[in-house]
Amino acid sequence: MKASTPAYTEPLLIDTEKRAVLSHPDLQWDAFDAYLFDIDGTLLRAQGGVHNDAFPESVRQVMAKEISLDRVLLHGNTDTRILAQAFEHAGIERSVWEPYKEAIYERMWTIVDERRKQIEIIVMPGVRASLDHLQKKRRTLGVATGNLELIGWLKVELAGLRDYFNFGGFSDKFEDRGALIGAAAVAARQHSGESSTVCVVGDTPADIAAARSNGLPVIAVSTGSYSLDELLEHKPDIGTTSMLALLESTY
Ligand SMILES: [Mg+2]
Repeated sequence: MKASTPAYTEPLLIDTEKRAVLSHPDLQWDAFDAYLFDIDGTLLRAQGGVHNDAFPESVRQVMAKEISLDRVLLHGNTDTRILAQAFEHAGIERSVWEPYKEAIYERMWTIVDERRKQIEIIVMPGVRASLDHLQKKRRTLGVATGNLELIGWLKVELAGLRDYFNFGGFSDKFEDRGALIGAAAVAARQHSGESSTVCVVGDTPADIAAARSNGLPVIAVSTGSYSLDELLEHKPDIGTTSMLALLESTY
């Protein structure tokens, strides 16, 4: 898979007020052995609607049926569950669409890949500097996202961030985010060692819940669609307005 990487543009600072909140005063955000980064709202924002449009479009092409994402909560959800919920809202039984799901996933990827030029990627503030910082400390870096694998990697590649990551966890085999994070943590420990600490980084209450269900620490960053105060209600180990704020809090 080859992608033409667009010129990197420095992101706008979304939060002008720098804030980082730690649940323990001696907690160091950069001291975990491995990190699992969510993609949308955490590493980057992919604008242009290409990914969302690929859901109904692929179902139309593969099954000649109509679905809509209008009533589906997208933030923190997984692609495979979004699809399942959209079918449910359309009154189409699982037994009807399940035989087509691999074909739909593949078509979604093809649609997104064909329209990659319409995807506008904004890298979140401080992401690149944080990844550089963690890489210098020899931390293991992976992505763990509700995206389908090929779509997730494409976004990361378009953002120019692909080289930071050794592995990823994706929703192709898991509708449940907790199961996806669990599998990604196993992959992380294959890189960093059996007893290594694995930290989840995400932008939604669903990321926090998925980390918790696996007994993993979590950094919640409010660069997605939830405010820091909303995220703090779910008690992440660390909450911050951006990776930039967190990074600067260490100096
Ligand atoms: Mg997200």
